[in-house]
Amino acid sequence: MSSDDTPVNSAAGSPPHEPWKRELAFAIRDPFELCRLLDLPRRVAEESVEAAGSFPLLVPRGFAARMTKGDPADPLLRQVLPTSREREVVEGFTADPLAERSSLAAAGLVRKYAGRALVLATGGCAVNCRYCFRREFPYAESGATRQGVVAAVDEIAASDDLHEVILSGGDPLLLDDDLLSELVGRLEDIPHVRRLRIHTRLPVVLPERVTERLVERLSESRLRSVVVIHANHAAELDRSVAEAMSRLAASGAILLNQAVLLAGVNDRFETLRDLSDRLLDLGVVPYYLHLLDRVVGAASFEVPESRAVALHRRMRDELPGYAVPRLAREVPGEPAKVWLG
Ligand SMILES: *Cc1c(COP(=O)(O)O)cnc(C)c1O
Ligand code: SF4
Repeated sequence: MSSDDTPVNSAAGSPPHEPWKRELAFAIRDPFELCRLLDLPRRVAEESVEAAGSFPLLVPRGFAARMTKGDPADPLLRQVLPTSREREVVEGFTADPLAERSSLAAAGLVRKYAGRALVLATGGCAVNCRYCFRREFPYAESGATRQGVVAAVDEIAASDDLHEVILSGGDPLLLDDDLLSELVGRLEDIPHVRRLRIHTRLPVVLPERVTERLVERLSESRLRSVVVIHANHAAELDRSVAEAMSRLAASGAILLNQAVLLAGVNDRFETLRDLSDRLLDLGVVPYYLHLLDRVVGAASFEVPESRAVALHRRMRDELPGYAVPRLAREVPGEPAKVWLG
C-alpha cells in the first residue's frame, strides 16, 4: 500500500473495466432519470432535487430495477429518494447523534468495542441511504486515506487485546480487490488477529462486487471471515443478490445481516418476517435490527421504541429463534450496543 494520502476510493479511477466498477460509475444520480425509469411524475423528481441538499441521490441501476414501477411508496425507493420531509426540523435529531462520528472519521481506527477494532477503510458508498448518519459526514471527501489505513494496521499490530478487525466505512468493499487483498495480508501477519469482519451493503446494492477474486482471497485466508450485509426489505434480495451470497458462502465466510427499522419501509410484522425468511433462503442469518440513529433529516423514518419492541416481541413469539435479529440501539458513551430484545 503506498503511503500517499489519496482517498482509497479507487473505484473512482478511470476507465473502469471490471463490471462492478462500471455499474458504480453509471449509478443513477439524477432524480429525473430515476423517476422516468419508474414511471413517476416529474413533480416527484422536482421535490427530490430541492430536498437533496449536500447528500445527493445515488443508487445503482440494479437496485433501482428491483423497485415497483409507478409506486411512489415503494420501500426500496423510500430508502434512497430525497423528499421534502428531510427538510423538517425535528427536536432530538442532530447532525452528530452518536456524538463521536467526526472524530472517528479522522482517526481511521475506532476502538470502542472490547476486543474488536473498526477500520474506516473508505468513506464512500455505492448508495446514499436517506436515513444514514453519513449524510452529515461526507467521509468520501474528508475521511479515510491510505495513510490512515496503514496507521490503523500499525496500531492493531501493537494491541494484542484485539482479536477481530471490522472493516467499515462507508463501504469497505469499495476498495478494489488489490487493495483489499493487501490489507487482508497485513492483518494476517498479525498473530493476535483471528477474525475479519466486513460490514458492507455492496453485495445487496451492487452484487457484481462479489468477484471470484474476492471470494478466493477470503477462502485462502487464515482469518475466519464474517460478512455482515445490510438489507431492510425482502424485495432488495433478488436473484442477483442470491447468487452473490452463494459465491460468498463458498468462501466459508459466516454471513449475517443487519437491518434498520424504518417507517414506511419495514415497520410491519409481515415485512420483517418476510425479510428474515428471504435472508435465510440465501443462507444469511438476521443479526441486528437497529433503531434509527437520530440524524437530522431522517425523522420521517423513525419508529417509536414501544412499537419497535412490540414488533420484535411478535417476531420472538412466531419465528424460530435464529430468524429473530437482536433489536438494538447505539447509545453515545455506552461500551456496546444497547439490546432492547
Ligand atoms: C455495533 C457495531 C459494531 C460492533 O458490532 P457487534 O456486532 O456488536 O460486535 C461495529 N460496527 C458498527 C458500524 C456497529 O454499528
Ligand atoms: S450503505 Fe450503509 S453506510 Fe452507506 S449510505 Fe447506506 S446506511 Fe449509510
